[in-house]
Amino acid sequence: MTYNTHRFGFSLLEMIAVIAILGILATIILPRASSGNDAAKVAACHVYKGDIEIQAELWNHNTGSWPAADLASIGADANYFPEGLPTCPVDGTTYTIDTSTGLVIGHSH
Ligand SMILES: [Zn+2]
Repeated sequence: MTYNTHRFGFSLLEMIAVIAILGILATIILPRASSGNDAAKVAACHVYKGDIEIQAELWNHNTGSWPAADLASIGADANYFPEGLPTCPVDGTTYTIDTSTGLVIGHSH
């Protein structure tokens, strides 16, 4: 039991590292490659999606259930989003998740 919990925690760390690297790459490479402000916004949206899904995974790991679909529960918890929930830089909408998978709905810009 303890071993399994440790293994799961480590995989979360790996996911966080991957998302962080992707975020850095996206913010550095994508805006230059397309030289468009829209592309930078799309890249930022993808980073936010990844961040929300990671935090939702942590919430699920800690509480045993997914956060509310509108993210009101997790968004109010500074342990997960100390700077508040992000909104989509492309269309300005708030993010929602599928409460059966924990994945952000839409935003396939
Ligand atoms: Zn978006």
